[in-house]
Amino acid sequence: MPAPSAKSPANAVWTKLGYKSSRELIAHFPRRYEDRSRWEDPFLCKLDQAVTVQGEVLATKSSRWRGGRSVFEVTLQPEGFLQELNLTWFNMPFMKNVFKDGDQVVLFGKISENKNGRRMIHPEYEVIKKDDEPRIHLNRVTPVYSLVSGVYQKTVRAAIYAELFSDELKVPEFYQAPEKFMSRLEAVRKIHFPESMEELEPARRRLAHDELMVMQTVMAVRRQRTVRQRKDRPAPVQDLVPEFLNHLGFEPTGAQDRVFGEIDEDLSENYPMHRLIQGDVGSGKTIVAAYALVRCLESGKNGAMLAPTETLATQHADNLRKILSPLGVEVVLWTRTSKPADGASLFPTGKTVYVGTHALIQEGAVLENLGLGVIDEQHKFGVAQRHALMQKGEHPDLLVMTATPIPRTLCLTYYGDLDVSVLDEMPPGRKPVKTVLRARKDLKKVWKFIQEESQHGRQAYVVYPLLEESEKLDAKSVQEAFTELKGIFGEDQVVMLHGKLDSEEKQQRMQEFRQRKFSVMVATSVIEVGVDNPNASMMVIENAERFGLAQLHQLRGRVGRGQDQAYCVLVGEPKNEDGWKRLEVMEQTGDGFEIAEADLQIRGPGDILGTEQSGFPLKIVNLIKDMDMIESCRRLAQNILDEDPDLSHHKGLYKRIKPFIQDSEIKLGG
Ligand code: ADP
Ligand code: MG
Repeated sequence: MPAPSAKSPANAVWTKLGYKSSRELIAHFPRRYEDRSRWEDPFLCKLDQAVTVQGEVLATKSSRWRGGRSVFEVTLQPEGFLQELNLTWFNMPFMKNVFKDGDQVVLFGKISENKNGRRMIHPEYEVIKKDDEPRIHLNRVTPVYSLVSGVYQKTVRAAIYAELFSDELKVPEFYQAPEKFMSRLEAVRKIHFPESMEELEPARRRLAHDELMVMQTVMAVRRQRTVRQRKDRPAPVQDLVPEFLNHLGFEPTGAQDRVFGEIDEDLSENYPMHRLIQGDVGSGKTIVAAYALVRCLESGKNGAMLAPTETLATQHADNLRKILSPLGVEVVLWTRTSKPADGASLFPTGKTVYVGTHALIQEGAVLENLGLGVIDEQHKFGVAQRHALMQKGEHPDLLVMTATPIPRTLCLTYYGDLDVSVLDEMPPGRKPVKTVLRARKDLKKVWKFIQEESQHGRQAYVVYPLLEESEKLDAKSVQEAFTELKGIFGEDQVVMLHGKLDSEEKQQRMQEFRQRKFSVMVATSVIEVGVDNPNASMMVIENAERFGLAQLHQLRGRVGRGQDQAYCVLVGEPKNEDGWKRLEVMEQTGDGFEIAEADLQIRGPGDILGTEQSGFPLKIVNLIKDMDMIESCRRLAQNILDEDPDLSHHKGLYKRIKPFIQDSEIKLGG
């Protein structure tokens, strides 16, 4: 058998990097760039600064320390400088095979210093060979790529260069981009090999625009698909809304009223409703869900509501039962531990609301006559679960609710296929929660304050972060706090809640806390989601710096639901400025949208919403820098689809969106 040649696909760079053709290499974007047209000064720069230097190897030395640690050192003469720079690699004896005296090398790394002078430890390196093409590797802004083992930086760079500047290269436009942008061809060349650092951003923007166009077209197709799912809506068989409103016990807020109206409009269309309700913690989303469920029952169908935890599902079931049983509606709790008995006759159509956890959407769970699916705390679920719920009925209406307010632009990005309603008004009588930052050493004062308040019958939560990788440790810290707080507040005054408890036990303890049998609940962040006890007016969050802002906001939302002034104490010692900034935001505002905006600026969007939310990865787009393009891309994508509904004149665009369109109920591609 002949040995595989360097040209064979098995050995090709693109195969090793996981691509299906050499053509795909041009989508292997640089990880960073080095300006090799202008070398930095390794002797004058700040310590710890990362610099790129070029120079000649003067000498190499391998040695072994006591204890067996090996050291390989290079003495480098950086070009244009008189001093020498030391390069050091520990425990990498094979490095001696890389460098020879007289070699020209390029290095990138942080500058440090010891008694012998300045040095770089474990820098990235490239040895320059005589026949290396200087136009590719030197004297220019040079791309640096992510590698896999057995692939060299220069090989990748040369392969990509060859692809980009080959006569056969075709980088077609796949839609008509706004005129201000450079061509795709130019952008692709410049993102790899810009003439200067300044050229990078315009090239990146062009490619980001393309990526957003693909994403927004996917969203537009999903919207179009919804509209094309024909749904006949027979006349209502019963009239329940007036009685529902009568039994509420309060007036809906203006915002709730407005959203009721938006739901009514959706339900008058002859295609399914797909609506997202965004509303801060405590804005009263449950009632909106209840309203939609009542509308659904009026049409003679049953409804369902999905919640992420058993505690929350139980609470919803209780609340809905209170509101709906006067209307003759049966609320069925459906969780791992509480499954309804078999038999459809149990679920009289037009009279049943199923409330449950994941158990509700599992295979085999039959939801008779499902007309509407509600998903609460949607950010705890993914696209797949949304899909599973939809499969339980025939084009049922869908209402998803989230208490993670996100900026409008992000919303268009991640939920671009949904209509969005915002509950931007709190029920009357809410006082903002007073929030303060405290260091651990001040905890004593905090406990004293809680003690005083609890003498007036008010209750407190004390929350510890839960990190999945160290659940044991966290359970321990909660356990310790439990013991400590019992010492302070009294043996029978403290109750503990954490994820390790079985769900009946959790219910039980929540129930007892709500009945005021305890003044303090020590918990992990399991209480984050939706738990409601209006009498709890204090929230202490330990190690607050370990939580995300959105999560802190959620936690804080557990208090301030009753008449009393509520307090939130963030206990922590952030290690850096960003950490402090984050916590200060919490101190300054109670507005979920403002907090989300700040979170976005500080942390970046990737951490706020995982990609699973949309099922759409963004490689080039930077949601902060490119925010301005999202809306215009959404409009442009919609225009394209309006004029060319099956994309038969946009084959390139069709090819790109195809992987993201699951079932092709709508015929695309001409
Ligand atoms: P969330 O949006 O966080 O899910 P909930 O639906 O749990 O909020 O509502 C929080 C509390 O506010 C509940 O106790 C609910 O009964 C109450 N509530 C909701 N709407 C109103 C209203 N219009 N007027 C007075 N109280 C309301
Ligand atoms: Mg809720």
